[in-house]
Amino acid sequence: MEKRILLSMPHMSGTEQKYISEAFEGSWIVPLGPHVNEFELRLQHFLGENKSVVALSAGTAAIHLGLIMLGVSRDDEVICQDLTFSASCNPICYQGAIPVFVDSEPETMNIDPVVLEEAIIDRKKYTGRYPKAIVVVHLYGMPAKMDEIMAVASKYGIPVLEDAAEALGSEYSGRKAGTFGEYGALSFNGNKIITTSGGGALICPDKECAARVLFLATQARENRPYYYHTTIGYNYRLSNISGCIGCGQIDVLDERLARRRAIHDIYARELACVPGISVQMNPSDKFNSNFWLSTIQVNPELTGCTPDEIRVALADKNIETRLLWRPMHMMPVFEKYPYYGNAETGRRLFENGLCLPSGSSLTDEDILRVCRELKACCK
Ligand SMILES: *Cc1c(COP(=O)(O)O)cnc(C)c1O
Repeated sequence: MEKRILLSMPHMSGTEQKYISEAFEGSWIVPLGPHVNEFELRLQHFLGENKSVVALSAGTAAIHLGLIMLGVSRDDEVICQDLTFSASCNPICYQGAIPVFVDSEPETMNIDPVVLEEAIIDRKKYTGRYPKAIVVVHLYGMPAKMDEIMAVASKYGIPVLEDAAEALGSEYSGRKAGTFGEYGALSFNGNKIITTSGGGALICPDKECAARVLFLATQARENRPYYYHTTIGYNYRLSNISGCIGCGQIDVLDERLARRRAIHDIYARELACVPGISVQMNPSDKFNSNFWLSTIQVNPELTGCTPDEIRVALADKNIETRLLWRPMHMMPVFEKYPYYGNAETGRRLFENGLCLPSGSSLTDEDILRVCRELKACCK
């Protein structure tokens, strides 16, 4: 059996150990410490735009605190992209708020600005109130159509929270994903662009908001000699040891991004002439996806096989692929919530889509092998 090719594996730089040794020598084996602060500063520098970053225990925690900062609470409605991972909308429910799902457009696979505006107008008509926030996702690293989305959001005065968990380093009009909205969430889970073995960060508009987020993430403990609380807190801080891993990872962030994009280039080139297979591309020069995962759309009439049949055939060759995220309105747990999307674009993208192995540790030969096996199952 040939070597196993996985979808997206953690890829260590080797310098993580050095930062961890420093932490051990300084006895910084605690939640707070210099490395988690250094990691935040380096993320801030990378993102630019004068943002303040707070490192947290998970991307999901970042989305949750972002919603809290936007004042989302019980019975508020929050618009969320329908085609996404459930972690984009679970925190809406943690707050006792109501997710309102909005369909994607086919180019970026992200929230459709036209349907978004329809949904906002309809919710106002139906409930008398505008939704409290909009959760936009940059799926698989592809930036959403932020000009159009921000125009709609500001027209109705609704803040945007970007779920940039998959989009660290992606750019739109030369500006980093996660810096357009009021808040932006990043993830450093094991399968993302860089990992802290589990972690996330919230990109905040300024230092004051970041200080409040840090306060909430560390049990909302007031500055007094005894424990004193005026608000509900969370235990969402990234540990310093995870911060060490993050520092080692950010050392090589540019290389990791270049490699993901190079892998996408190989797929785009090798699969260009395969009938019934189309590789997702940047729709225009405005978009610069990190191509966290390269994805394809399959036309079974031309390939003779469905995405799931391809998945099973490739698994047999020791190659891991994955179907796209299944739209939220198709999940039993979220079926009862409002959904806007007459064209069901997200459902179609899901039914025809497949994610290809894209980890930055994969070699050119690995990717060529995936292409060969993929072509072999399309006859
Ligand atoms: C990974 C991911 C998250 C959650 O991040 P965690 O760090 O795993 O909590 C949220 N949204 C999307 C789109 C993701 O891919």
